[in-house]
Amino acid sequence: HLPTAELQALDAAHHLHPFTNGHELAQKGARVIKSAKGVWLKDSDGNEIIDGMAGLWCVNIGYGRDELADVAARQMRELPYYNTFFQTTHAPALMLARKLAELAPGDLNHVFFSTGGSDANDTNIRLVRTYWAEKGQPERNVIISRWNAYHGSTIGGTSLGGMKGMHGQGGLPIPGIEFIDQPNWWVEGGDTAPEEFGLERARQLEAKINEIGPDKVAAFIGEPVQGAGGVIVPPETYWPEIQRICDQYGIVLITDEVICGFGRTGNWFGSQTFGIRPDIMTMAKGLSSGYQPIGASVVSDEIAQVLSGTDFNHGYTYSGHPVAAAVALENLRILEEENIVGHVQNVAAPYLKQKWEGLLDHPLVGEAKIAGMMASVALTPDKAARAPFASDPGVVGQICRDRCFANNVIMRHVGDRMIISPPLVITPDEIDILIDRARLSLDECLAQLEA
Ligand code: PLP
Repeated sequence: HLPTAELQALDAAHHLHPFTNGHELAQKGARVIKSAKGVWLKDSDGNEIIDGMAGLWCVNIGYGRDELADVAARQMRELPYYNTFFQTTHAPALMLARKLAELAPGDLNHVFFSTGGSDANDTNIRLVRTYWAEKGQPERNVIISRWNAYHGSTIGGTSLGGMKGMHGQGGLPIPGIEFIDQPNWWVEGGDTAPEEFGLERARQLEAKINEIGPDKVAAFIGEPVQGAGGVIVPPETYWPEIQRICDQYGIVLITDEVICGFGRTGNWFGSQTFGIRPDIMTMAKGLSSGYQPIGASVVSDEIAQVLSGTDFNHGYTYSGHPVAAAVALENLRILEEENIVGHVQNVAAPYLKQKWEGLLDHPLVGEAKIAGMMASVALTPDKAARAPFASDPGVVGQICRDRCFANNVIMRHVGDRMIISPPLVITPDEIDILIDRARLSLDECLAQLEA
């Protein structure tokens, strides 16, 4: 109940912000979010903000669902904590594991729980390397990822991610992680047609496997749609070619579904939208709609069978935390019973697509990409030439992002790309508000650039 100014003074004095600490706003005290309902946030001054990012791409069912609070309270009273190490387990973790096995495609039937996406990807590194070692091929330990991918902020997650700015802090990546280029046609496609470019980028994986030696490659990891890299929706040719290469060389295919999972791209998982058959999926965020911290690595029958022949010496105190698991289960019940994936497919995504692509008539917008309920626009001073701005990448994006913030719509910028990923329950009327505020912010950004 402290006034905004006092909260902001505490923020500036004591709080080290993830990722944004150097920003002016964090230094003088960031905006304080007080409550939320549906797709709307309320700040400590009473302003109503439409959340175009679902928090950090996670509040899929929207804010303020009392059912999740009730389940959490019940579970805390009955069994607030117990672990799943050694010889004990509990019903919430088991019921959630069964539910994920049911929802996940193919034979992905076995779940290793974590507390978020970063540590789920840490698990994946150790898990695939242990898998190959148990199969008598310990030299198969290289994991191939993509530049500009985001797989988390732990040592393992940062190493798997392809963000050079993150690698630079802490001497990463760890050994045995290699990278290929991302399928970002707008920036890197040149005169090549998008479909051809998709094939070229996928075939970098084959070239990289042959450069390293096929008997040394353990796995490839990719987000179906690169999220924090700028919502880079790949050309249609991309994933089928990646799948062919993984099949041909027998390497483990990991899809990081932390953003793309749980309805975001119009199916339960992004792998289904893009026709990928992964051996492992990383999950977090939409798994609990962000109401509790929880993540998971979901693995195939074959991988689970090999691992069950050994002690996999890995685990987190909060692996399968009963409160987080119970809340995730309730979240999945709501997603299923309210047919929220159907709402995305039939209502929200088609409407958002029409409105989002409508932004292409704006002088600053060069490319508009969308996959279900995640979307991006590339800002450019010259659409025909697909030209970047003369300023450093991100300067214009940040102006636009700040205008959005001032206009009470949360959008993110990645370099000079603007991105959204709203709660899946957003209605057409709310999409209209989001787009109107985005357009106003683009207009103000343009005016500022011209001033
Ligand atoms: N993987 C992807 C694709 C993500 O977008 C993120 C977070 O944004 C992570 C992993 C890391 O998840 P967490 O922040 O829950 O550790």
